[in-house]
Amino acid sequence: MADIKEILTKSELSRTDIVSLLEARDEDKTLLFEKAAEVKQKAVGNIVFFRGLIEFSNICSKNCYYCGIRSSNPGFGRYNLADDEIVEAARFAHLNQYASLVLQSGELMSNVFTNRVARLLEKIHNATNNELRITLSCGEQTRQTYQTWRNAGAHRYLLRIEASNKKLYEMLHPNDSNHSYEKRLECLYLLKETGYQTGTGVMIGLPFQTTGDLADDLLFMKNFAIDMVGMGPYIEHADTPLYKYKNRLLPLEERFQLALKMIAVLRLLLPKINIASATALQAIDKLGREKALKTGANVIMPNITPGSYRNNYLLYQNKPCTDDSADDCKNCLEVRVALANNTIGYGQWGDSAYFTEKKQHTG
Ligand code: SAH
Ligand code: SF4
Repeated sequence: MADIKEILTKSELSRTDIVSLLEARDEDKTLLFEKAAEVKQKAVGNIVFFRGLIEFSNICSKNCYYCGIRSSNPGFGRYNLADDEIVEAARFAHLNQYASLVLQSGELMSNVFTNRVARLLEKIHNATNNELRITLSCGEQTRQTYQTWRNAGAHRYLLRIEASNKKLYEMLHPNDSNHSYEKRLECLYLLKETGYQTGTGVMIGLPFQTTGDLADDLLFMKNFAIDMVGMGPYIEHADTPLYKYKNRLLPLEERFQLALKMIAVLRLLLPKINIASATALQAIDKLGREKALKTGANVIMPNITPGSYRNNYLLYQNKPCTDDSADDCKNCLEVRVALANNTIGYGQWGDSAYFTEKKQHTG
């Protein structure tokens, strides 16, 4: 049996150490969580930053096997929010001192889409006095598109590697040129080169995934020197091809605990990055995101998509808060964050401290 106490005193964690931490149970798991909380407090403080999440379109050209809005799924309405609706949601975030936004959508690659997002960025900045930091999460694009969006005022980008093990990645995606592991990796490098605060992440508890794979995911993030991470449990969706493996999955509560351990170990590996407490955690446990604040996460993304559209952005089933208005979410979050002994960094951009530090070193 691995000595978790001893592992937690090390300054460098090996792959074997990480696997042991991910498999920790009972008191060992508590020790890991306590250590992660301590490292978080020292490195970034007990402040949680809000990013207002706007899921502005569920139209997607891809067919990822796990995702409820994949292009082959006909069973629900596709939508594309009007610019005015998006700008209105951005104003709500600005008025409520969220200071940052995430614009997320299905993946489309076209000049029309590129120009549309660029125009949106400009409209939002104009409407909010240039006081918001904007994160995009619109999938794989060309260098030119990433550059256009960067020039139009996007500061951060989230593109999950989903699974850093190429074989596993290929089991999760169709085998065609539209879904290549190499392209995904290349995009992450492009984002870094274009000057974005770059974020990635994985799904936790996927069929065929081992704790070794998850340890490799964490090492991938460390070796890539990633600035931000958003990762959460995989939650099966009945209308997707991956659903056929549902009997191979860990019970939801175990997937949830594994996700908390992933966040905790990541905080040990990269103390100064931003780690988002994924919405999928809340789909399993009502207080899931707040629990993650106690094990190392420091970012929450309240959903501010206009209510009537939320039911159609079902990446997975049991997605929380789909019936709430943006205000409901804000109030319930405030109480829960306080319960987790964190304070909300209202009005602060909350850039990745790791990104800022790297920039200072490279001049
Ligand atoms: N189209 C963009 C952004 C929207 S999808 C993209 O793919 O990058 C955002 C994230 O939702 C994906 O990266 C994936 O990790 C997550 N997701 C999709 N289906 C999921 C599921 N069934 N369970 C948990 N997370 C899921
Ligand atoms: Fe589209 Fe993203 Fe879902 Fe894949 S994960 S199908 S790219 S929305």
